[in-house]
This record gives sequence, structure tokens and C-alpha cells, in this order.
Amino acid sequence: MIELKTDTIVKHFKNRKIEIERKVLEIPKSEILHFLNKEEFNSHCRNACPNHNRKWTCPPNCPNFEDYSKSYSKIQLFLFVTSTKQFDFLSQEECSLGAYNFTKEELQNDLRINEPIDGKMIAANSCEICTSCSIIKGKSCYFPEKMRYNLVAFGFNVGKILTDLFQHELKWSAKNIIPEYVSSVGAILKK
Ligand code: SF4
Repeated sequence: MIELKTDTIVKHFKNRKIEIERKVLEIPKSEILHFLNKEEFNSHCRNACPNHNRKWTCPPNCPNFEDYSKSYSKIQLFLFVTSTKQFDFLSQEECSLGAYNFTKEELQNDLRINEPIDGKMIAANSCEICTSCSIIKGKSCYFPEKMRYNLVAFGFNVGKILTDLFQHELKWSAKNIIPEYVSSVGAILKK
């Protein structure tokens, strides 16, 4: 039985209090491998994402997860969920993206704070440390100590991780439709 810890954290956006539901669970690293399908999920990046091959953290530049994680035995998964109603002071066009970017940034901060010295954070998104990734200029990563890969780039089925482990359904925005909530997920590999 996986223990799921849930709490609510309060952060601020444009001087307003925003509540985020934080869910955390930890499993043996071997159990996350069922959700890995690099070929299928990297093909979505290749076909649909403008960052493909334009960041060191994105396919095809992301290492194989099995190689990257071989010295770790556990993975702690973090899910942040934020109700979009709290962003109803924004325009309809800005609401979903504003809520998502805020949630992702807060998760990213939480992961960086919680990354142990002998562990490794798996970020909530592709690396955004530099305005333009050094790969565009054919140079090595400017901040190799800070850059972190993410679950999607490794080739994980993130939707299935959320339904199977968190019993949580992703909701998507569409034209004129604001989802009830936005979600962001990251992880920490541990010894
Ligand atoms: S730290 Fe900068 S150069 Fe390195 S992957 Fe991130 S954006 Fe690219």
C-alpha cells in the first residue's frame, strides 16, 4: 500500500493568496519503470514540441532514465494541484496558463529546496534557467550543476502515473474552456 501524503500550501500571486494542494508519495525506483516508454513518448515531443532538440534537457538529448538513475533506489513523486477559480481575476485567455505557470514554478521551487545532497531532482518542465539554451549555439550546458531533466523528456507516461499512483486525472484547457484545476508533477531520486 503506497502512503500518499496530502497538505495545502498557501502562496502568493499578484498580492493574492493562492492555495495549492500538494500530494507526495514514495515508491521503489523499480516501480516507476512500468510507466516508461521512451519510444512512444519521445515521439510526441518530436512531433509536437518546439523545444525538441532545442534544449539540453529535451529529447533527443535526454539520457536513458535507467542509466541516469542507476545509483538511486527510491523515487519520491510530487503533484501540485491548483484550482483555476483562484485566478478568475485574470482574463479568460490568461487564466489557465497563468495558473499552470504559477503552479509549475512553485513545484519547481519546492523540488529544489527538497533535493538532498545525495539525491537528484526531476523537474516539472524542461530547463528554463537560460533565456536561450546553449545548445542553439552548439555549446555545452552553461549550468550543468543546476540543470535537471523532467519526466516527460525521459519518456514517462505522466498521465498514467497520475491516474494509477495518485488517482488523479489531468484536465486540459481548450479554446474558451478553463479547466477546473491545473496540475504539475516532478520527482526526486533518492539513494
Ligand atoms: S542551464 Fe541553460 S544551457 Fe543548460 S540546459 Fe538549461 S537552459 Fe540549456
